[in-house]
Amino acid sequence: MVTLGLLHALKGVGPYTAAAIASFAFDLPYAVVDGNVLRVLSRYTGDATPIDTSAGKKKYTALAGVLLDKDQPGTYNQAIMDFGAVICRPQNPLCTSCVQREDCQAYRTERVSGLPIKEKILRKTRRWFYYFMVET
Ligand code: SF4
Repeated sequence: MVTLGLLHALKGVGPYTAAAIASFAFDLPYAVVDGNVLRVLSRYTGDATPIDTSAGKKKYTALAGVLLDKDQPGTYNQAIMDFGAVICRPQNPLCTSCVQREDCQAYRTERVSGLPIKEKILRKTRRWFYYFMVET
């Protein structure tokens, strides 16, 4: 019998892939948590816990598990990932036509563009290289 632990033990299979295989291929009740899902959950709940911290990942993963439709885990996982990719997208989310806007805390409190929060912001570093070119 396939279990999440068994899938996770495979080389190169992390939590996301293990949950995806378990739910899509075997209809097992595990929530897939990718960037799209993290963004949807943060905005929908209005939670400002950074999504890229271990505390944030733990919190949103637990919430994703609670919200998961245990009878149709594969369909639910695909739906929330697609929702994040197409409707609740990172830039210019389609809030005015979103079916969740009445209950979405980010929308209700006008914090959509501020969520989710990321703690680690990529910093661009300017580097200079000096070199000699020798012609013979
Ligand atoms: S109302 Fe906007 S922010 Fe809220 S879930 Fe819908 S698309 Fe996402």
